[in-house]
Amino acid sequence: MRAMQLPAPAHPLRLVELPTPSPGPGEILIRVSASAVCRTDLQLCQGDIEPRRMPIVPGHQAVGCVEAVGEGVTGWAPGDRAGLAWLGGTDGTCPQCTGGRENLCAHARFTGWDRDGGYATHVLARADFALALPEGFSDLDAAPLLCGGVIGYRALRVSGIAPGQRLGLYGFGASATLAIQVARHWGCRVFVCTRSAAERGRAKALGAEWTGTYDDTPPEPLDAAVTFAPAGSVVAAALRALDRGGTVAINAIHLDRIPELPYADLWWERSLRSVANFTRQDAREFLELAARIPVRTEYETHPLADANLALRRLSDGAVRGAAVLQCA
Ligand SMILES: [Zn+2]
Ligand SMILES: [Zn+2]
Repeated sequence: MRAMQLPAPAHPLRLVELPTPSPGPGEILIRVSASAVCRTDLQLCQGDIEPRRMPIVPGHQAVGCVEAVGEGVTGWAPGDRAGLAWLGGTDGTCPQCTGGRENLCAHARFTGWDRDGGYATHVLARADFALALPEGFSDLDAAPLLCGGVIGYRALRVSGIAPGQRLGLYGFGASATLAIQVARHWGCRVFVCTRSAAERGRAKALGAEWTGTYDDTPPEPLDAAVTFAPAGSVVAAALRALDRGGTVAINAIHLDRIPELPYADLWWERSLRSVANFTRQDAREFLELAARIPVRTEYETHPLADANLALRRLSDGAVRGAAVLQCA
């Protein structure tokens, strides 16, 4: 198998040939056709996120075909289409797991962080954490849904936004591009703040009622907001735009810091919440909804060997929608 491997933080990925692994008990081997690039991959490669294992193959939005199944696996057979996302496994026994919040499991293992991920021609996955994908999406279409889409959906849920309410989206990359389609499907009025004029144009095209920069204030107070930009100042701006009782959901695994706030910004039962990972139930709900809406993904493609270029383009803000590696 071939893979793009990170040898150490802040180093370029290198193309390596590795022995194709055999699935162990409870595992499946997926032949990867498409692997979408996530900002978390970029942060791991740049050293902003503490590495958990080195070297590592990044990538946690992989779509492909099951090639082999390990001992004791049920529900998967060779030839099935499968998706592999960020949550690669949990202990299944802790209070969080048994309480329906496996995204908070302290023993969770993450794809492309603890386990080798999808920037490869083949990847091993825990069979019970692999995702079935709805018809109607090609492998390339489906890959960007697996992190950006699912996390964006969880962020909407965490924000408490209800149909018809006013929603703010702060930052408009791959995840927000998918979240706005869900919010519009729910009949929400959407207000988008982002630095990029091109992104403001795309937000308008996807049904935003108003767009502005991070320095602008939406024309009406917001019932909820989701921040996608990895900057604490943006969180503070979103909080200031909230109506009484509103919530800001922070969709970022890494944030520089949150600036000191006047308590008046939080007063009147406003809430600030982080969004951490997602549960398999979130993924199933979102994928089903995405097929029904149907959510459109926008992406550019790169050969697997050009993963460094895809990451650089994401870092430069040059990617329109998502970047997807063609692995097969
Ligand atoms: Zn657990
Ligand atoms: Zn991700």
